Amino acid sequence: AKEVREKHPWLKIRLNTNDNYRGLKKMIRNRKLHTVCEEARCPNLHECWAERKTATFMILGDICTRSCRFCAVTTGIPNNVDLDEPRRIAQSVKEMELRHAVITSVARDDLEDGGASIFAETIRAIRSLSPLTTVEVLPSDLNGVYENLKILMNARPDILNHNIETVRRLSDRVRSKAKYDRSLAFLRQAKELQPDIPTKSSIMIGLGETKEEIIEAMDDLRANNVDILTIGQYLQPTRKHLKVEKYYHPDEFAELKEIALNMGFSHCESGPLVRSSYHADEQVKLT
Ligand code: SF4
Ligand code: SF4
Repeated sequence: AKEVREKHPWLKIRLNTNDNYRGLKKMIRNRKLHTVCEEARCPNLHECWAERKTATFMILGDICTRSCRFCAVTTGIPNNVDLDEPRRIAQSVKEMELRHAVITSVARDDLEDGGASIFAETIRAIRSLSPLTTVEVLPSDLNGVYENLKILMNARPDILNHNIETVRRLSDRVRSKAKYDRSLAFLRQAKELQPDIPTKSSIMIGLGETKEEIIEAMDDLRANNVDILTIGQYLQPTRKHLKVEKYYHPDEFAELKEIALNMGFSHCESGPLVRSSYHADEQVKLT
């Protein structure tokens, strides 16, 4: 990893030498909660927690029923559903004084509703304790079942985010169980259910896609009324995961952003270290 950063200096991250977050991290651990910020060792943690007051929580456990080839989350038989989790998330959001909370989860194909009702409960719990905090949800495709999406959209998140992850040609190789067209349909239906709620999606690049294929994926998202797009560099979490085929230069990310804005996305974050929830706080205001 060190050699990669030496060759591509824009991947160097600002390390947090004086860790002011010990208290918050301990609080999260004590409540048996998980944040993606910590578990993915996200390079943006300092900026997000301290300056932007944003964090991403992972609900419904940390064991996934799927095994995408880019993802470091453990695959297996998931934990029991913890019905008290929404309340503890809401308390943590309040204590962290978050302006924007992102709620994501592993894919729970073992649950009939794919976890939709716990997502909905979490939105409601945050609303009741922190009415000014905006809430973005980043669910799996909830088994591709329309009724599940309806449960989630009825709770009215501020942003519905669902990642397409990669271009059409690579989708089956990169993702597990999820389908390119099913994800597009999911995004389109979310918009049909609640037309005033912005929808958002994300593409990782560096997996061997061509520029034309990236643009095609962006076109597909726009054709399904997606409002917000994030594009980031794929980084291999361990040697067992898919190899990085290309490190894109920041100028190439900037060009993709321009293309996206010309296509009509209301907001686009595009850069080497951009993650699905990066600068998410700005996206609520702008839409
Ligand atoms: Fe957390 Fe997302 Fe910010 Fe990373 S970009 S620190 S995962 S909120
Ligand atoms: Fe990781 Fe999500 Fe795929 Fe599960 S569904 S393996 S959490 S990317």
